[in-house]
Amino acid sequence: MDDASTAGPDSHCAGRVIKGILEPGKMTMATVSNALPSTMTVPRFLGSGKIDTVQKPVPQPGPGQLLIQVHANALCGSERPQFWGGTDVTPGHEAAGTVVGVGVGTTTPIGTRGGIFLMDYCGECRSCRAGYTNQCLAKRGDMGFNRDGGYGVYELIHENLFFAIESDLSATEATLLLDVMGTGGHSIMRARRCHDDIRSILIPGAGPVGLGILAMAKIILGPDVPVVISDVVPYRLALAEKLGGLPVLSSEVTLSEGLKRHGLGAPDVAIDAAGREEVRQECLALLAHRGVLVSVAHGGGLTIPNLYGDFVAREMTLVGSEYFAFHELEENYRLLKANREYLGQIITHRMGVHEIQNAFELFFAGSTGKVVIEQ
Ligand SMILES: [Zn+2]
Ligand SMILES: [Zn+2]
Repeated sequence: MDDASTAGPDSHCAGRVIKGILEPGKMTMATVSNALPSTMTVPRFLGSGKIDTVQKPVPQPGPGQLLIQVHANALCGSERPQFWGGTDVTPGHEAAGTVVGVGVGTTTPIGTRGGIFLMDYCGECRSCRAGYTNQCLAKRGDMGFNRDGGYGVYELIHENLFFAIESDLSATEATLLLDVMGTGGHSIMRARRCHDDIRSILIPGAGPVGLGILAMAKIILGPDVPVVISDVVPYRLALAEKLGGLPVLSSEVTLSEGLKRHGLGAPDVAIDAAGREEVRQECLALLAHRGVLVSVAHGGGLTIPNLYGDFVAREMTLVGSEYFAFHELEENYRLLKANREYLGQIITHRMGVHEIQNAFELFFAGSTGKVVIEQ
């Protein structure tokens, strides 16, 4: 939390005071906006691909916490186990909204708009102190997975997970800062740590994560760096092409053949957004000398053939890339404002929370970009 805030308690406390503790320099009273209901109707993931609704109490912000009224939450492929397996937690981890309640010790004013970081990082462990908040060693939880998340009307978070935005950006656009730009951009950063002159990229998987990697590759490395992207869904490839990607329909051609058709040889970097062992294997075999395989997708394995021959001799790198660090939001926010229309193409569907069942069915059928639930 930021001690340097100049806003005193009086400037925040436009609402109902629920608790008061003296603590100079910070919010001294937990406050929530007037007229908040005591319960809310939220989606319940029953399992077997069914969603109904359930009543939950509207949480009160404790010390260091904010209550967010969620306006937008993007669907994610990582919610498949919740959709099919069911959960008591309210899912949703790509959320943006408005602060409507503030706990003791916070500095964010009621009414501030912003996005919510998935990982409830501690801010104090070795990883967090070094800025690797996506590698927190004492993580308090994951929003939308083991803490109630962004498909609810209100979401309770620790203040350090909140990234404030200006009012010119919609909450729906702000969700792009999370898995699309955050996860995508982080994978490019991980590749650059291992390769200092990337001239071509291959991305297996043109789902929302793959599209985010493609877009961030174009934004960060420049539009002239060729990015080949493969998928079995033509809709996604058409969207990838609109974003400047070179499409390969992997149900018809191999990655090697696809690269050739685009006039390209061995790529410098492959960023796996497909999560299948045989695809990683194919990428590893295709990469150029000094090649880097970045794995963003979870699941599946990888065998490194001839580890002490080819892999060593050609100085290959295998690197994992997990979500992104909180501090990366600042630069991505700048990039979002500068590339608003371009990035906005990744959101193809906006639906109300009452349509969440349809939204998930549509999303998992494959012919969408990002689908955002708005409320
Ligand atoms: Zn996600
Ligand atoms: Zn930590």
